[in-house]
Amino acid sequence: MTVRIVIIGGGQAGGWAAKTLRDDGFDGEICVVAQEEWDFYERPPLSKASLLEASPTLPRLFSEEAQQALNLRWYRPLRAQNIDPQAKTVALSNGESLSYDQLLIATGGRARLPGDAWATHPQVYTLRHWQDAQRLKKRLAQSQTLAIIGGGWIGLEIAASARKSGIAVTLFEQQPALCMRSVSAEVSAELLALHQQQGVDVRTGCGAIELDGGDENAVIHCDGQREIFDAVVVGIGVDLNLELARDAGLKTDRGIVVDAQGRTSDPAIFAVGDVAQHACYGLCVQSWAFAQNQAVATAKAMLDTNAPGYDDVPWLWSDQYQHNIQILGIPQPNSRTVVRREEKGPIFFSLNADGTLNQLVAFNDPRTVKLAKRWMASGRDLNAEPLGDPAFSLMSLR
Ligand SMILES: Cc1cc2nc3c(=O)[nH]c(=O)nc-3n(C[C@H](O)[C@H](O)[C@H](O)COP(=O)(O)OP(=O)(O)OC[C@H]3O[C@@H](n4cnc5c(N)ncnc54)[C@H](O)[C@@H]3O)c2cc1C
Repeated sequence: MTVRIVIIGGGQAGGWAAKTLRDDGFDGEICVVAQEEWDFYERPPLSKASLLEASPTLPRLFSEEAQQALNLRWYRPLRAQNIDPQAKTVALSNGESLSYDQLLIATGGRARLPGDAWATHPQVYTLRHWQDAQRLKKRLAQSQTLAIIGGGWIGLEIAASARKSGIAVTLFEQQPALCMRSVSAEVSAELLALHQQQGVDVRTGCGAIELDGGDENAVIHCDGQREIFDAVVVGIGVDLNLELARDAGLKTDRGIVVDAQGRTSDPAIFAVGDVAQHACYGLCVQSWAFAQNQAVATAKAMLDTNAPGYDDVPWLWSDQYQHNIQILGIPQPNSRTVVRREEKGPIFFSLNADGTLNQLVAFNDPRTVKLAKRWMASGRDLNAEPLGDPAFSLMSLR
């Protein structure tokens, strides 16, 4: 009998899993249940090139031919409504039921909104899907003023893209600093300076935000002020699509709990990408690298129980203005941050008391990121090294 693997979610992680299954010789049936109508695509360009290019195209994960060669059975645009782990079936929104031998959950997340009124306001935008990017791009082309709610990575990238397009940007962040959950105070301060230099009006530590306005604009009420904007983009994070896993009785915490091989608490069900909690770090990394590499490792493990697990240090990047910013690792409380200022941009080293590196944030310096991966892997004590001195060669610590 033909073995069947069902993948729920046609995003980046689902795509890499499907490709890896075929690359590693799986010749059974692969069914992909996808809510979106598009072929697998990557989301990072949506806040960058897709907003800036004159005629952006779908940022496909694989060429059309490469995807055809995967010989997938698509169920799209359809939602997986429910998983029955006992019967090993998935119920679809068109009433069909799909049986599986192994199941992979790759459902990602959905953009969060501050409240119901925001969901129906015609000038409120979020950015998660290809259509979102097209809709936002169209509106930006007609806008002089933009409010961004949320000073995380997506908000900052949209701010950079809008400024490049000559739009006046006001960014509201309720926390006292930008990207506060993911980087040190020193990096937050650098990001603030960068955006202020580019003319963004950044309001960190702002109070509660209320919204009204009509079809043509949005009115933001905050800290006693009433301001009118042509459009408002909300970038306050995502709600992970965990409902299917929870309702199926799978163990969830911040995300779906998986082992290093991507296996959930049900041995026939695996989870990848944004919804999967990093097996070593206990959090959902929500990055391009995790969506690809953890999905590849998981697909290999679905075919071979002895396949090595995934334990990479979290890594993500962000492109803002002329800067490529790479973030490796997770900052820990009570870290000491050493700042190194070079011509190409600053580097921030967050060190534990024992001198090991818990996070490196590097502007325009992928070489040092590679080096830092090795320092982290070997647990190197960097306390005595003059990291902040630009005359000191970091490469001498190879
Ligand atoms: C605008 C934007 C910019 C980004 N920029 C960067 C960056 O610069 N660097 C970086 O490292 N990371 C970046 N990321 C993060 C990165 O893109 C994500 O981590 C990655 O897309 C996660 O992949 P995924 O497959 O887990 O989820 P997704 O790509 O979200 O795919 C999940 C898919 O599952 C579908 N789905 C959900 N529920 C169901 C269901 N019940 N039935 C059927 N289908 C379902 C969804 O519609 C979606 O198509 C960015 C993300 C966004 C949104």
